[in-house]
Amino acid sequence: MPEPRVIRTPQEMAAASQAARAKGQRVGLVPTMGALHAGHLSLVDFARPLCGLLVVSIFVNPLQFDRAEDLEHYPVTWEADHALCAAHGVDAIYAPTAAAMYPQGFQSKVRVEGLTQELEGAFRPGHFDGVTTVVLKLFNAVGPHLAVFGEKDYQQLRVIQRMAQDLDLGVEVIGRPTVREPDGLALSSRNVHLSPEERKHALCLRRALDRAQERVRAGERGAAALRAAALAVIEATPGARLDYLEVVDAQELTRLTRLDRPARMVMAVWMGKTRLIDNDALN
Ligand code: AMP
Repeated sequence: MPEPRVIRTPQEMAAASQAARAKGQRVGLVPTMGALHAGHLSLVDFARPLCGLLVVSIFVNPLQFDRAEDLEHYPVTWEADHALCAAHGVDAIYAPTAAAMYPQGFQSKVRVEGLTQELEGAFRPGHFDGVTTVVLKLFNAVGPHLAVFGEKDYQQLRVIQRMAQDLDLGVEVIGRPTVREPDGLALSSRNVHLSPEERKHALCLRRALDRAQERVRAGERGAAALRAAALAVIEATPGARLDYLEVVDAQELTRLTRLDRPARMVMAVWMGKTRLIDNDALN
């Protein structure tokens, strides 16, 4: 398996992408913050057969962290990430330095308005501006035909699809299902921070989604009842503290009163000092 090429600057990345396009290759991008796990790799495996040049970006983007503590403790596993990219046939790892991404004097940002106001946006001020700004910069450097994101970060996926459409980016933004541990916990780079006790209780997110889905199968269509059923699971879990739990329109992310269109249950829950998010379709 050839080693992926490591690229550190937007200029070098753009040149590699242009060379691939000149050969008629499709360019695919999987943006990540590293600490790669099977969730990231499912995106890579999905993209691999669809493109000639497959780029994984690894950049812990300071702009999207609303808490300094979260940024400081974000796991960095460069050697393992590199080996996993090689094993999964990645052609290039785009890992710019913060100085290359945000040189002195940097003062621009891109904002998606409506979709970013509620849910994660309400609890993490500035987060989505950081995400859209870095993703637009990654798209500009990599020039991908397609980019693959996880449904794990469902609001992020919808925000980026909106940005790509609104700004005519010409990038196909594809969402892929959440990869879970055998017991149902969604894989996340932040799971390493959970104590064994917290890890056990962290299953409450999946259980809450299951409880709501059971009620839907039993015929319940009222969002308030579904929300209450899921909420009861979180509230019964020692150490769990809720940020939000909502039933929303799967496209617009607005709150629903009834399941009269494609819907998603979305939630964010603190387990001790670790903040976990999860979501799933409700119909
Ligand atoms: P991150 O490194 O956390 O910024 O995530 C990079 C990409 O991987 C994003 O598109 C995430 O939605 C996606 N991702 C993270 N966790 C999972 C998971 N458990 N299953 C599928 N995709 C995931």
